[in-house]
Amino acid sequence: MLYICVRNFLPMQLSPRLKRFNEPETLKMAKLGRELRAKGIDVIDLSLGEPDFNTPEHIKQAAKKAIDENWSHYPPVAGYPDLREAVCVKLKRDNDLDYKPENIVVSTGAKQSLANAVLATVDAGDEVIIPTPYWVTYSEIVRLGDATPKLIKTCAETKYKLSPQELERNITDKTKLFIFSSPCNPTGTVYTKDELKALADVFEKHPNIFIISDEIYEYINFIGKHESIAQFSQIKDRVIIINGLSKGYAMTGYRLGYIAAQADVAKACEKLQGQFTSGANAVTQRAAITALLSDLRPTKEMVDEFERRRQRVMELLKQIHGVECATPDGAFYIFPIIKSLFGKSDGEMTINNSSDVSMYLLNKAHVSTVAGNAFGDDDCIRISFANSMQNIEKGFARIREALGKLK
Ligand code: PLP
Repeated sequence: MLYICVRNFLPMQLSPRLKRFNEPETLKMAKLGRELRAKGIDVIDLSLGEPDFNTPEHIKQAAKKAIDENWSHYPPVAGYPDLREAVCVKLKRDNDLDYKPENIVVSTGAKQSLANAVLATVDAGDEVIIPTPYWVTYSEIVRLGDATPKLIKTCAETKYKLSPQELERNITDKTKLFIFSSPCNPTGTVYTKDELKALADVFEKHPNIFIISDEIYEYINFIGKHESIAQFSQIKDRVIIINGLSKGYAMTGYRLGYIAAQADVAKACEKLQGQFTSGANAVTQRAAITALLSDLRPTKEMVDEFERRRQRVMELLKQIHGVECATPDGAFYIFPIIKSLFGKSDGEMTINNSSDVSMYLLNKAHVSTVAGNAFGDDDCIRISFANSMQNIEKGFARIREALGKLK
C-alpha cells in the first residue's frame, strides 16, 4: 500500500535524451526579444535567421492554386515525383550535378533533412567532425544521434576556413561524418572550388566518412558562383547535399528542405521520415515546384539588397571602437570579434563573455543579436542584416552608444 502511494507521488520522469542537447540559442534570443516587445519596448531584431522579404508572388499563387486543386492528401514520404524531378533540374541548372529523383528526399525544412541525414549515418561511438564556428543545430543533432561532435576551431585570419591539414589531423578510426556549411552561418565564409577540392582529396583517402554539405545559403553569395563539394566525382557518392527554399526564396514558414545523396542514403532518410512526419506539407511541395523551376529574378533582387546592407553594415561596424570583423562573402550575418569588451563594465553590468555582450545589447540598447558561444566561438557575436536598412541604421547607432558606455 505504502509502495503504491510513493509511486503515485514520484515526479514524472522525462527521457534523459533531453539532457543531451540544448534549445537553439537563436530561437531563444528571438523569444527574449519578443518578450521585451510584449512589454512595449521597441526592440530592433538583429538576431534574425530569415530573410525579411515576402515570398515571391508567383510562388504564393502556386500555393493558393494547390489548395484550390485539393492537394490535401498525404503526399509520398520522399516527396511528389515531379518535385523530386524539379530538384534534379535545379541541381543540373545551377550546380551542373547529375541526380535522379531516387537520390532526392524532400522534408519539412532543411533542418529535418539534416536530422534525417545525421540519424541515418551515425551511431553510438561515432565521431562527427564539425569546423567551428558552425550552425547551432549540427552538434545538437549529432548528440541526439548518440554520436560525439568533434569541433575543430577555425579562425578569422584564415577566413574561418578549415585547411586540409587540419581536417586530416582530426580524422580517427571513429570518424563517420563531416558537417559544414558554405556559405556559412554564422561567419559568411564561402569555400572556393580549389579549397573544396583540397578537402575532397583528404576524404578520398578515408572512404568510410560521409560528408554533409549544407548549401542552404547557396544563392546568398556575394563573391560569385556557388561551388558544391559534390562536384568531385571521387567522393560524390558519400556527399549528402542539404538545401532548401527557406533562405533563397524567403519561404522559411513554408518549411521545405531536401537532400541529394546516393540512393541508399536517400532510402534511409525516407525510412526515418516515414515514421516521423510522413513527408513535407503537400501544398508547400506544389509551391516548391514553381519556385525551383522559375526564374531566379526575385532571389537576385533580394540578394542585391542584402549586398547593399552588407556594405552599410561594414561601414557602421568600423565606427564602433574595439570590434573587428571580416567582410562576409555570403549569407546575411556578420560575426564580429568582441573579446576586447571582456572585463569592461557600464557600472551595472560587467561583460565576461559573448552571452554577456548579447544580453547587454538586448537590455541596454534594445537590440537583439546572438552570442557567439551558440556557434562554438565565445569571442564573437552574430549580427544579422536581414532587417530593413532603417532598422540596421537605428540598431547600429544604439549598439555604438551602449558599447561606448563600457569602461
Ligand atoms: N542550415 C543552416 C546553416 C541554417 O542557418 C538554417 C536555418 O537557419 C538551416 C539549415 C535550416 O533551414 P530550414 O528553414 O530549411 O529548416
